[in-house]
Amino acid sequence: MRKTLFVLFIGFLAWDSAAQTTIHRNPEIERLVAEVSADSLKKYIHDLAAFNTRHTLSVDDENGMPAAQRYVLSKFKSFAGSSGGRMTAEIEKFVTPADGRRVVVDSEVANVVATLKGTDPADDRIFIVSGHLDSRNKDVMDAEGNAPGANDDGSGVAAVIELARVLARMEFSATVLFGAFTGEEQGLKGATYLADKAKAEGWNIAGVLNNDIVGNSTSSETNISDNTKLRIFSETIPISETEQQAGLRRSINADNDSKSRQLARYIKEVGERYVDQMEVKLIYRSDRFLRGGDQTPFLRNGFTAIRVSEMNENFYHQHENVRVENGIQYGDLPEFMDFEYLRKVSAVNLSALASLANSPGMPQDVKIDLRGLSNKSILLWTAPAIGKVKGYYVLMRETSESMWEKKFFTTETTMTLPYSKDNYFFAVQAVAETGVESLAVFPVPLSR
Ligand SMILES: [Zn+2]
Repeated sequence: MRKTLFVLFIGFLAWDSAAQTTIHRNPEIERLVAEVSADSLKKYIHDLAAFNTRHTLSVDDENGMPAAQRYVLSKFKSFAGSSGGRMTAEIEKFVTPADGRRVVVDSEVANVVATLKGTDPADDRIFIVSGHLDSRNKDVMDAEGNAPGANDDGSGVAAVIELARVLARMEFSATVLFGAFTGEEQGLKGATYLADKAKAEGWNIAGVLNNDIVGNSTSSETNISDNTKLRIFSETIPISETEQQAGLRRSINADNDSKSRQLARYIKEVGERYVDQMEVKLIYRSDRFLRGGDQTPFLRNGFTAIRVSEMNENFYHQHENVRVENGIQYGDLPEFMDFEYLRKVSAVNLSALASLANSPGMPQDVKIDLRGLSNKSILLWTAPAIGKVKGYYVLMRETSESMWEKKFFTTETTMTLPYSKDNYFFAVQAVAETGVESLAVFPVPLSR
């Protein structure tokens, strides 16, 4: 076992020091990342913002939500041609019932969804990248007034469209679903519909990357202008946690190791590996303070999901009517977007998604041996059910650290490390021949 062990200092990845072992960029993913185009994103945003409104309950067939849905569908269908029949797209209609809040009467609404079917019949995983197509102005019930929604969430939908364009011809083991959801502003209607359906039908959703407000780089009030930072929101205590799971979490101090937190760490590591001049910030919240997004219905159903958002929000251009007041232009208009920033955000999504969709399944039955007192830590696991592996990384970090600090490689399914489990956290990832890693699994105790 010793022979196969080497250490990667992931804190010093990339170009800092020739003496460090580095994880190299996978050339194919690097090539895909380079295809993400700021010009394409700009075009989609201008097209989306040109509809008078994309309000969920808009019935304007010429210049409202139905027309916007057909626009997104036409984009997906134009890319599907290069997929060899594996990409399909549809406008999926459903009735969202009156809720006494933001939906007054039962209303027919729709998500626009493209599905790129995985190539391995044994791989039932689905990875989702999403944004919400609906927009709003100051009055969330105004289904007719102008609401361009360039950034909220034209930016997220544009990223989804661009990823569908670049990835359509790719062959991934797992299935990738590209979602332009409706009804986010009316109470997460479209995402709830899909997440509930997925749960009821037993879909294996292995990760959701929800992009909402990802294309502006200048803050209101504090006047910060910085296009090098991105936030990933991930839940700390799982909203779906049972009492039994809570007991286990408390007993092993897994408070900073939810599945969604592991996904967030994965996106930070992989995104920063492939996208230059972009720092991914982990935010230890499932969303902004007391706010919500389309990742939430997936979390409620027990799926792994995170929210991607820009670092510096501008509230002059969010949920505001288009107008000039005291010399300030309000409204969510394309002129306030930073398309180079949106390109980098989209590229972070793409690098993570392309890695995940061709990653092995996660190691199974990952355990840490607690059968005797020892200053060493013994981890054990079994091979993933999906995909071929060349080996595994055991990850390690200090209990006070946010990101994994070291990666130990082995071809076996156990590893003994001369570091005490009292002082460090561990996890295990499977690694494919291509070097692509699975999501990390936090171990549970193996007791007598
Ligand atoms: Zn939004």
